[in-house]
Amino acid sequence: MSFLPDSSAQKRPRARPKPDPAPDPAPDAEAAPRALEIHRRLCGVYGCPIPYFHDFDPLSELISSLLSHRTRNAESGRAFKALRARWPDWAAVMAADTAAIEETIRGVTWPELKAPRIKAVLAAVAERQGELSLDVLKAMEVEAARAWLEAIPGIGPKTSAAVLAFSTLRMPALPVDSHHHRVAQRLGLIGPKVDVGPSHAILRAQLPADWSAQALYDNHEVLMLHGQQVCHHRAPRCGACVLLDLCPTGRARKELR
Ligand code: SF4
Repeated sequence: MSFLPDSSAQKRPRARPKPDPAPDPAPDAEAAPRALEIHRRLCGVYGCPIPYFHDFDPLSELISSLLSHRTRNAESGRAFKALRARWPDWAAVMAADTAAIEETIRGVTWPELKAPRIKAVLAAVAERQGELSLDVLKAMEVEAARAWLEAIPGIGPKTSAAVLAFSTLRMPALPVDSHHHRVAQRLGLIGPKVDVGPSHAILRAQLPADWSAQALYDNHEVLMLHGQQVCHHRAPRCGACVLLDLCPTGRARKELR
C-alpha cells in the first residue's frame, strides 16, 4: 500500500501525554448511504473480501508504514527487506548508525528524514514498553490503541490505522492513503479542504460502527484500488467509472465536454 510519518504528526516536538481524543464526528446522514453504495459497487468491481497483502507483526508494520509514506510499494518493500537483511532485529536497527540506515533505505522518498525517524520511533516504543514490542495494543480498543500510537512523535492517524488494520492485529481501523483520500474527495464524501489526517474520522463515521476489520480493510482497499486504476490523479477515467452517477466531480467533468 502506498502508506515519513504523517505530515500532521511531524509538527510535534517531543513525546507527550496524549490529550483526550477529539469527539467522533456525528455520522453524516446524507453521506452514510452514499458511502455504503460506493463500497458495494467497488466491492463488486474489485472483489471483496480482499486478501490481506502481508502479515507483519505490529512493530514491523509500523516500520513498513513509516517507509511507505509518499513512496511506491515496490520501493518501500525493497527498503524494508534491506533493513531486515542488514540487521538481525529491530533492536539492532535502533542501535545502528543513522547514516547506515539512510544508505540502506535510499530507494524511498526522504531517506534522510525517515532514517532518524525510524530510530526515534523504535526508541520511543522501547522507552514506553521496556521492550521493542507493540503487543500492548492487543488488549486495547481501537481508539485507545490509536491514541497510544499517536502519542509517539511522527505517528499520525494514517500510520496508526495502518498498524492496527494491516498487521497481525487485524483490528477494525480505517486507513486513508493518498489514493483513498483523492477518490473520497472527488466523490464529495469529504470536503475539498479536508486533509488526509482529519479525513480518517470523517470517513470512518460514514461506515457502520460494527463493521469488522475485514469490511473496513475492504473499504480502504477498494477505494485505493479505484484511485490507482480508474480515478487517476491527473486524468480520471470517469467514462469507465461505476460511480459516475454518484460523483459530483465526474458529472461536472462530463458537462464540460
Ligand atoms: S466519476 Fe471520475 S472523478 Fe468520480 S470517482 Fe469516478 S473516476 Fe473518479
